[in-house]
Amino acid sequence: MQQPFIHVKNISYTYPGIEGEVEAIRDVSFQVYNGEFLAIVGPSGCGKSTLLSIIARLLEPSGGTISFQNPDGSLHYPRIGYMLQHDYLFEWRSIYRNVILGPEIRKNFTPDTKEHIDRLLKDYGLYPFRDKKPSELSGGMRQRAALIRTLAINPELLLLDEPFSALDYQTRLSVSDDICKIIRSTGKTAILITHDLSEAISMADRILVLTNRPSTIQAEIPIHLTLTDNSTLAARGAPEFSAYFNQLWEELYHERKETAG
Ligand code: ADP
Ligand code: MG
Repeated sequence: MQQPFIHVKNISYTYPGIEGEVEAIRDVSFQVYNGEFLAIVGPSGCGKSTLLSIIARLLEPSGGTISFQNPDGSLHYPRIGYMLQHDYLFEWRSIYRNVILGPEIRKNFTPDTKEHIDRLLKDYGLYPFRDKKPSELSGGMRQRAALIRTLAINPELLLLDEPFSALDYQTRLSVSDDICKIIRSTGKTAILITHDLSEAISMADRILVLTNRPSTIQAEIPIHLTLTDNSTLAARGAPEFSAYFNQLWEELYHERKETAG
């Protein structure tokens, strides 16, 4: 895991605006290692989504650079799977036609891709529902369908922007456990934004804590849990869990008090 995959160097971002500019990110630098699961937490509105959009190249940074060194040593831009809070499933397409969208657009719907997608649908209990419309599925099933659509293009990097926040608590636990297992078993590199500290601790190898806007890095906390199995449930029951929770809480709470005072 020790090979750096993503190099984020001195990134800054300012939104232009009629009533003045909004400085969202100020001089943020970090690396993400190949196969690492990084979580990013921070106060609401601090610039987390902006940072992820910059990594996804949807936004051009105002300053700084992002570069990628792929696991094979090449420097090309990786295939990215991006998952958001809203599932963005197309209501007029069946679940199957939603999840094949990526390969269909890329004109890359090969027998291998079909097999890969069928396997994912079976693994996540959606195969019997593949001809249904999104509105006929529960929130958790829809989010799993969004996940399968994201994985269908076999991304080298997964960017997850609060993908579970619209789900009820139990569904959220189960969908996040699925996602965590997929990411672990396929060795994919992932960046997860969440406001749920327990979720961050149970899923990530390392957590970046961002400050209030403009975002800078407040703390970087590597997570090492003693686990009985590799489920997120076991992670939540690990002996180190509450100490990490308190540490994160302190970081966020202190930061807010300082800026409020
Ligand atoms: P987070 O994801 O941490 O909640 P965002 O990255 O979405 O925060 O936004 C960071 C800050 O930038 C917020 O204060 C937000 O109001 C502001 N912002 C976001 N998008 C725009 C935009 N298009 N124009 C101006 N300001 C924006
Ligand atoms: Mg956001």
